[in-house]
Amino acid sequence: MKKIYMDNAGTTQIDPRVLREMMPYLKEKYGNASSIHSFGVEARTALDKSRKIVSKLLNCDTNEIIFTGSGTECNNLAIKGAVFNSMKGMFSKKKKHIITSSIEHHCVSDTVKWLGKMGHDVTFLPVDKDGLVDPEDVRKAIKKETLIVSVMMANNEIGTIEPIKEIGKICREKGIYFHSDAVQAFGKVPVDVKDLNVDMLTISGHKIYGPKGVAALYVKRGTKLDPLLHGGGHEFGVRSSTENIAGIVGLAKAAELIVKSMKTEVPKLTKMRDKLIKNILEVKNSRLNGHPTKRLCNNANFSFRFIEGEALNILLDEMGIAASTGSACSSTTLEPSHVLLATGLKHGEAHGSLRLTLGRFNTESDVDFVSKAIPKAVKKLRGISPFKKDW
Ligand SMILES: *Cc1c(COP(=O)(O)O)cnc(C)c1O
Repeated sequence: MKKIYMDNAGTTQIDPRVLREMMPYLKEKYGNASSIHSFGVEARTALDKSRKIVSKLLNCDTNEIIFTGSGTECNNLAIKGAVFNSMKGMFSKKKKHIITSSIEHHCVSDTVKWLGKMGHDVTFLPVDKDGLVDPEDVRKAIKKETLIVSVMMANNEIGTIEPIKEIGKICREKGIYFHSDAVQAFGKVPVDVKDLNVDMLTISGHKIYGPKGVAALYVKRGTKLDPLLHGGGHEFGVRSSTENIAGIVGLAKAAELIVKSMKTEVPKLTKMRDKLIKNILEVKNSRLNGHPTKRLCNNANFSFRFIEGEALNILLDEMGIAASTGSACSSTTLEPSHVLLATGLKHGEAHGSLRLTLGRFNTESDVDFVSKAIPKAVKKLRGISPFKKDW
C-alpha cells in the first residue's frame, strides 16, 4: 500500500544529507569533547563548528547557544532556569510572576502550571478565534513581579504565527525576559533573534529533518539562568552532560539546509497547503482552524462536525495516510485540544479535528490522494454517526 506521511509537525523524516553528516560521529569519531587527546579534539572541533553554524543562522554569538536534549528541555530550561536563578538563596521568598499564552505546547504550559503550584503567580493569556495573542494583552498583564514572558512563535496544532517581534518590544521596554518556542517556526519563518527582540528562543532537531533528542536554546548574553542538570559544567555551565556530538552535528546540518532552502521550499509548501485547504473545505460542515493567512506554510487544521477526530485518523491510517488530531501529546487523553478550546471551539468541534502537516518529502500527488481520501473517510464516519443531522 502507498503510504503518505502528513504529520510533519509531529516529527519529520531525517534528511539523508543530515544522516550522512552524522554517521562518522556515531562510528569512528566517537570522542568525548572534554577529552584532551586527538579523539576529544575531533569531537570538540565538530561541536564548535556546529555552534558556529547555528549561531550564524539565528544571528547571535557562539556563546549564546546552548545545546540540549530536546525542545522540551530547552523550554523547561528557559522558564525554570530563569525562575530558579531569581530565587537564589532560600530566603528569597518573593514569588515571581510568569506570563504565557493559553495555546503553548505542553512543555511550556505544564512548566508554567507547575511553577504556579510551587507558589508562583502565573497568567495564561487568551487568544482570539484565529489563535492570535494580542501584544496589548501582554502589556496589560505585566506587573512589578513579572520575571518572564513565554509566547510561542508558531503554534504546532493550528499553525498560527504570533506577533513575536511586537511582544518582544514590549518586554524589552519593561525590562523583563522574553522567551519564544520557535520549534515549529524555525525554517518556515525567518528567525533572527536580534530582530525579534527575544532573550531566549528554542529550536529542535527532529522538526526540521534532523535527529530526535537534540535541540538548541538561544540565550542572550546577560540572561541569568540556573541549570536544571548539574554536573560537569558543559554548555557554559548551564547544561551538564557529555555532548551528543552526532546529534548536534545533525541539528546544525538540518538547520543549515532548511534555512538555505526556505526561499524555494516555503512557496512550494504554501501552494500545496492552499490546494489541500481548498479541496478539503468542500466537505460540508467543515472548517479551517487557525489564522487564514498568518499561518505556517505547511499546516492545515480542520474540524468536521458530527465525527470524532480519533476515528477519522484511524480510518485514514488504514487508507495509508498518517495525519494527526492536532497534538501527538493529547492523543492518549480524551480531552479535546486545549488550543482549539482556547480559540473558542465547542467540545464537539474540537473533537472532530484533523491536522495535516506537509513536509519536504511530500508531493503534489500526495495532496491529490489525500484530497480524495478525506471526503470519503468523513462520509463513511458520518454514515455511522449517532448524530442524525443534515450534512
Ligand atoms: C515538538 C515541539 C516541542 C517539543 O520538542 P521536542 O524536541 O520533541 O521535545 C516544543 N514545542 C513545539 C511547538 C513543538 O512542536
